[in-house]
Amino acid sequence: MGTTFPAPAPPLSGAAVPVRQVTTPQLYECPGCGQMQILPALPAGARAVCVRCDAVLRHTRRDPLLLPLALNISALILFGLGATLTLMSVSTAGQRRVADLITGPAEMEHYGLWEISLVVLITTVAAPLARVLCMLTVLIGLRLKHPPAGLRLIYAWVQHLRPWSMIEIYLLGLFVAYVRLSGMATVNIGPAIYALGGLMLVMVLADCMLDNQAVWEAMEPRNRRRRRTLDENPAIADRATPNAHRWRIGCDTCGLVSRAAPGMRCTRCGFRLHVRKPGSIERTWAFAIAAVVLYIPANIYPVLTVVRLGTGDPSTILGGVGELLDLGMWPLAALVFFASVAVPVLKLIGLGILLISTHTGSGKALRDRTILYRIVDAIGRWSMIDIFMESILVALVQFGQLASVYPGPGAIAFAAVVILTMLAAHSFDPRLMWDSARDRAEKTPPETDRPVTGRPETGRLGSMGAETA
Ligand SMILES: [Zn+2]
Ligand SMILES: [Zn+2]
Repeated sequence: MGTTFPAPAPPLSGAAVPVRQVTTPQLYECPGCGQMQILPALPAGARAVCVRCDAVLRHTRRDPLLLPLALNISALILFGLGATLTLMSVSTAGQRRVADLITGPAEMEHYGLWEISLVVLITTVAAPLARVLCMLTVLIGLRLKHPPAGLRLIYAWVQHLRPWSMIEIYLLGLFVAYVRLSGMATVNIGPAIYALGGLMLVMVLADCMLDNQAVWEAMEPRNRRRRRTLDENPAIADRATPNAHRWRIGCDTCGLVSRAAPGMRCTRCGFRLHVRKPGSIERTWAFAIAAVVLYIPANIYPVLTVVRLGTGDPSTILGGVGELLDLGMWPLAALVFFASVAVPVLKLIGLGILLISTHTGSGKALRDRTILYRIVDAIGRWSMIDIFMESILVALVQFGQLASVYPGPGAIAFAAVVILTMLAAHSFDPRLMWDSARDRAEKTPPETDRPVTGRPETGRLGSMGAETA
């Protein structure tokens, strides 16, 4: 298992010991700007970045498989504890209510908001558990003498599950709920909170310690890997493949660059290859416009009704921020305002800038726009704080006329906005900005000898920028 390491040369007396390389030279396509570039052999702990947009192409690790395995075993144990033990309990006037990970979604379903119940269950239970189980299957499978072929499909799904696992955001939602509740009743933290906190840390660490490409390489049979390395060599590949309909395509799922026609399956992960994400611009516009439309009911309809001593009015997201300000909790009000009001708006404005500049073929600030895309793609999930806070409040505060919290229909629209903006960012292909800028600069050459998708067969090959971490 593992990558084939070149045997270290015996040190000569008086000469410096050569650095041991853990990878072989490889052709990469930057997912941010589409630049094809050859990464030379890298030592462990090296970070290779794109020559054009600074996106991290590979971060090599000394032990890319064993440490993530240990961390994922810990994650499974912590998840088991987090899902079964008590998260929080609230007591007031002699009554006590207890909540665990499932209580929130169950109460939401009880009030008819099954959509929210489903979203919370997927993002806090199904996706994190599936991710940990898939990772364990892959990392244990790779330790077998003959790793099963199905591992590649499982690992491909791990890549797609990543943004939907939201334990860290759920914890922040629990924190906001805790602060809000502490003004109403006696709140006790349960052991599951510590387990989920540990789970979050372990999952982040497992992600950091994992060299994604090392896992893909370990899953490939060695003879195929050697053949592929030759095929990736541009000089050899250009001579060996006379087929003019094939050109180099970087796989969106596993990153392998192979000579193929669009629509063919990747020889490594089995997913379909596309020069650029299919229908990227149209789908991004569709998701973004749907999100803008739903943003209106998300802010008009109440997301929550807090009843205290028999009275209480439904409140919208902005109303909730106002209530926190009235209670003097301005840092929390700022957090909820930023996550629930500012982030969706900023994200939609950001997507608008990216889409319009792609249409105009603007060549200005391409690198900055690629960074803007990475930010837009990363921050959208954090708007789920409000939904998670609501699910825990509804689960805990059910004391009849004394104090109760009921969910409102605005929450469904708001969750839809968050999911649609995530899908919009995921659909956008930042490489199209670079393509359209290049096309405009080239003043459109004759159409006959250009591939439909716009990228020439042989990309410009840059050197790589590597820095030892
Ligand atoms: Zn790049
Ligand atoms: Zn692939």
